[in-house]
Amino acid sequence: MNFSCLVCGGPVYEPWLDKCRDYFLGNSGFATYVRCSECGLVQQHPLPPDLAALYEQYPIHAKKSRLHEWLRRRILRNVYYDASQLPPRASILDFGCGDGWYLDSLHNLDLRRVGYEFDLDHARQLSQNLGVPVWSELNALKTIGEASFDIVTLHYVMEHLADPSACLRNIRSLLVPNGLVYLLLPNIHSWEARLFGRRWHGLDPPRHLSFPDREVIERMARAEGYELVSTKNIAFPNTAAASMAVAFFGRFKHFAFLAFYPLGMLLSKLFPSGSTAYLLRKS
Ligand SMILES: [Zn+2]
Repeated sequence: MNFSCLVCGGPVYEPWLDKCRDYFLGNSGFATYVRCSECGLVQQHPLPPDLAALYEQYPIHAKKSRLHEWLRRRILRNVYYDASQLPPRASILDFGCGDGWYLDSLHNLDLRRVGYEFDLDHARQLSQNLGVPVWSELNALKTIGEASFDIVTLHYVMEHLADPSACLRNIRSLLVPNGLVYLLLPNIHSWEARLFGRRWHGLDPPRHLSFPDREVIERMARAEGYELVSTKNIAFPNTAAASMAVAFFGRFKHFAFLAFYPLGMLLSKLFPSGSTAYLLRKS
């Protein structure tokens, strides 16, 4: 099958990781990851034929247990964008807002909050629950939101996209001059990814299509009219804890994930690299 890099369109690749199983949801089949010889992007090849079908039973959008909620709010507030640094009445778009917990966590701040989720029913339900607009149609959002957001956040979104450059291009038209984009991604070059290999939770095949690293992000940013302001490795305990759960039990188990969570916290604190956050500025 012909190869075309998702970012640079290059036709040549090197092997990266084959026979990758879906340890998270336990679906059958294997995914293969390769590395583009031109820009270095690690991506799936071939891509799954039906991308929407990958999310039919995806629990990321489901209601979480109280313990999960508590952990998430305590720990992930250091991982997700710190919106308390924004000026009063700034506007934020959380692109790929999932179950909306992040937007909800900002309710005490004086901000204009807007969400985006591609599924219309999910977006409607979420909008009702949160009391903030959640859009599912990018063109509609563009019409009302043209050049109006101070920041757009993409927390663990870009690795799911078949055209990451187009996403940055679309978002650019929604930003005010000098507006910011916060990208949070699993780091394919981290010690976790190397240690756990196919069992690394950040790999999440077949849903994670590609893993743009600093060089790829810089390349995309330049091409789409941004400058890369900062890059920061982030201590994210979830991927370490979930990877250990898979290594011990052969697939993801929620109780094992919680049992390994303290060790995941410690390791990710000592050696933070499982995720990387990039801040881009519209230029
Ligand atoms: Zn490439």
